[in-house]
Amino acid sequence: MIVVGSGAGAMTSAVVAADQGLSVLVVEKSDKFGGTSAISGGGIWIPGNHHFAAKGGKDSHDKALQYILAAGGGKADATKVRAYLEHAPKMIRYLEDKSRVRYAVAEKYPDYYQHLPGALPGGRSLDPELFDTSTLGDELDNLRRPSPSTLLMGRIAWTARDAHVAMARERGWRLKILGLMLRYKLDFKWRRKTKSDRRAGLGSALVCALRASLMDREVPLWLKTDFRELVLEGDRVTGIEVVREGRKMTLTARRGVILGAGGFEQNQALREKYLPQPTQAAWSATPPGNNTGAALEAGLAAGAATDMLDWAWWAPTIPVVGEDKPRGIFAERAFPGAIVVNSLGRRFCNEAQGYLEFGDAMYKDRAATGGGNVPAWCIFDAHFRFNYAMGPLMPAQIMPDGRLRREWLGSVYWKADTLDSLARQIGVDPAGLADTVAKANEYARTGKDADFGRGDSVFDRYYGDVNVKPNPCLAPIRKGPFYAMRMDAGDIGTKGGLLTDAHARVVRPDGSPIEGLYAIGNTSASVMGTAYPGAGATIGPAMTFGYIAAHHIAASA
Ligand code: FAD
Repeated sequence: MIVVGSGAGAMTSAVVAADQGLSVLVVEKSDKFGGTSAISGGGIWIPGNHHFAAKGGKDSHDKALQYILAAGGGKADATKVRAYLEHAPKMIRYLEDKSRVRYAVAEKYPDYYQHLPGALPGGRSLDPELFDTSTLGDELDNLRRPSPSTLLMGRIAWTARDAHVAMARERGWRLKILGLMLRYKLDFKWRRKTKSDRRAGLGSALVCALRASLMDREVPLWLKTDFRELVLEGDRVTGIEVVREGRKMTLTARRGVILGAGGFEQNQALREKYLPQPTQAAWSATPPGNNTGAALEAGLAAGAATDMLDWAWWAPTIPVVGEDKPRGIFAERAFPGAIVVNSLGRRFCNEAQGYLEFGDAMYKDRAATGGGNVPAWCIFDAHFRFNYAMGPLMPAQIMPDGRLRREWLGSVYWKADTLDSLARQIGVDPAGLADTVAKANEYARTGKDADFGRGDSVFDRYYGDVNVKPNPCLAPIRKGPFYAMRMDAGDIGTKGGLLTDAHARVVRPDGSPIEGLYAIGNTSASVMGTAYPGAGATIGPAMTFGYIAAHHIAASA
């Protein structure tokens, strides 16, 4: 069996297939393993998982089914969703029993659509435990390193649960940070070797654990091996053509090929062909050059059907001079005292909602607001700047303006003594902005956002500041200097792709499977339809359908 790509779903399928006695080869085009999965939060959304149950949490298959179908915009296929709900809890239990992958439940992380039937206020999202990377030996050099945004102070590994305590400024957050910093500093042996933390967290922990599990099984992973085309004998896929370090090769896969090669977010031409406009590959928070849609195009050439190619896992991003990709803004939009406006200076949605809906609103609500929401502008004041992070700007109490890189002023952030002058600098209507800020300040006083209901839902409040009353997501903007940051209509991967069935087999427009061909992760159209039901709803399905595909291939000798 051949697996194309080395993200979390791909490596899960390789681990499972090896355990089933198959001879497996993983091919990865870049010189690093892990893909976007490696720089992600590594969260997986698994309804009915055993960790939540062990803590007395209550969930049910029917509730989760109802929730996903309600959220999925008519695009979530009930048969596939049922397969997901049946196998996802089995997949994670399997990996924890048989491999080095370890998770803990993020009990307080709410599903993203609290207003929909079947939503839970927490318990379905799992967060990777820290992983000791010394286990990987020299292979650690081949890891796609995490983005600084996913590390404490750009360097120290933490779990999403730790990060939440700090971001929501829960009781004891300073002690928590101090503890993490001390653990890092006191690891003298590792400090002598490198500035990187010995421990990996989040997506890095996940892919390191999977990579180590592949090494345990002696499954080869070929880097710098670029998949180009599928090989077919009659109607059946029997192998792939690759270019390995400049040399063309044909590789035979007697039992099957799993395409886990990500989406097409790094391919500008495909973005222009399929996604809403304007669009830029440079706005994507994914590793530059990795996921350029080769698997999608090969599947199409083999006669595959596709779905939802006009969708991405949207997330607003902020470009950062000096970094190779922009940063996704996931949590910060919920912090009290920052609003996001369009060119008219008007808010266009609830800033604290999920990143997919926020990104969708940047496109969708353009007509309704009459202004350009791409780019949008995040506006905050000196009080916010002192207390909270926004993208690469750590709170000024830790990183004052004087310590920021000089070239960031006017490229990453803009600053002025008055809102009027700030608006003029960034090309936003000053009168519109003044009006919007006056309204937002009144909402902060009453605790009620009459326009978009920001802070009304448990999900919005997850990243709110628990110390801010009456609404943890709302605070006034009134203390100069004032700041602006540009938000682009970015993504964390594309969401549409090859159409698959409940066994992860790629199907043709008539629904018949293409024998020997499977697709998972963002190479396939998401099982979640157009929704992002909860934290981990992209990697959870990637790993689950990787698990399903490996079992199906093993069983169909
Ligand atoms: P990838 O993980 O990108 O793996 C695809 C691999 O295939 C890459 O290594 C690529 O180089 C390789 N490849 C591509 N083309 C070829 C080719 N022609 N030949 C060989 N190899 C090829 N999602 C969650 O569910 N939970 C989270 O917590 C989360 N946090 C995120 C945080 C950030 C900052 C970002 C950017 C994303 C996050 N996401 C999260 C989204 C998630 O990371 C991606 O949707 C997911 O990792 C995609 O998995 P994949 O296997 O489809 O692709």
